[in-house]
Amino acid sequence: MFTRRKFLQTAAWAVAGSALMAEQLQANARQALPHFNVNRSGLSLRMKLRFFPYELKLRHVFTVATYSRTTTPDVQVEIEYDGLTGYGEASMPPYLGQTVESVTAFLKRVNLEQFGDPFQLDDILTYVDSLSPGDTAAKAAVDIALHDLVGKLLNAPWYKIWGLNKEKAPSTTFTIGIDTADVVREKTRECAGLYNILKVKLGRDNDKEMIETIRSVTDLPIAIDANQGWTDRQYALDMIHWLKERGIVMVEQPLPADRLEDTAWVTERSPLPVFADESVQRLRDVPGLKGAFTGINIKLMKCTGMREAWKMLTLARALDMKVMVGCMTETSCACSAAAQLSPAVDFADLDGNLLIANDRFKGMTVEKGKITLPDRPGIGVVPT
Ligand SMILES: [Mg+2]
Repeated sequence: MFTRRKFLQTAAWAVAGSALMAEQLQANARQALPHFNVNRSGLSLRMKLRFFPYELKLRHVFTVATYSRTTTPDVQVEIEYDGLTGYGEASMPPYLGQTVESVTAFLKRVNLEQFGDPFQLDDILTYVDSLSPGDTAAKAAVDIALHDLVGKLLNAPWYKIWGLNKEKAPSTTFTIGIDTADVVREKTRECAGLYNILKVKLGRDNDKEMIETIRSVTDLPIAIDANQGWTDRQYALDMIHWLKERGIVMVEQPLPADRLEDTAWVTERSPLPVFADESVQRLRDVPGLKGAFTGINIKLMKCTGMREAWKMLTLARALDMKVMVGCMTETSCACSAAAQLSPAVDFADLDGNLLIANDRFKGMTVEKGKITLPDRPGIGVVPT
């Protein structure tokens, strides 16, 4: 049992100059004084922000309707406070228009040392958001690291802080990339035993062929992402009817982002739920999508992080809309942050960490296809 007397004793040893004892003090103090706003470790109580570029290596070439690539630029962020470290990440797929340079330039402007209390998430993240109109991935990196830190200070994972039941986390979709029929069959066979729902990116001229190839191997439910690839509303509706007959369960972004009236026409007639992805970025976009879409896809890198994601989820539910949570190609850091929301969503597309060869973290896992949240505090990650 750790007593105050022992704490003072240990403190005295530490002051006497033993580095080892200082470490012990820190560990013991954390155990003994689980209060926030207490200088438990003798270290500075100012938040320190650190960041460095970290290029993600993809396991396979990544192809969607408009491009292919083998790496993704990424910046890793850490916030240190009172002997604890909160981890965050900005992943920048090219279509977001953010780069290592832009993220780094933004993060250099962030001064967290002006805030003494990490629990003032609202003040801190409102300040971070006010620094520029865009930079959503850079803002998300700070947001995630701060949430991780606050969860660690509370010694609780965010799904618990949000009052969610982790047993309700859904299965994640796993994307079968566009490829030749032989490769698609092979990949589908590999995935069929590991996942409970597949995702296929359509919006090219071989859409029906892709689905028929996959259906020749498995009857698993399939989520479709058209990535704005269909341009005619009648064609989109006909495709959705065709897909419904083949066991597809939902469709994401059938038409270009700005075609809300045509999308509303499709959604009204669609036998499948239609989700917004490119049409939604932040909280302010959500009310305008009611009626045009059945639901929204929330991604931390687009909405500035966990705080706004939670608000979007709450607002969408109030508007009687469905919710899915998605991700970019990213490490288990940002994926595990998004996974904290997953017990509250209808669909989850959190396979980004499975697509990279150089993950820096252990966090959420996929067990028998289902998102499995660790009991670790914050966003639940540990560096590997
Ligand atoms: Mg999408």
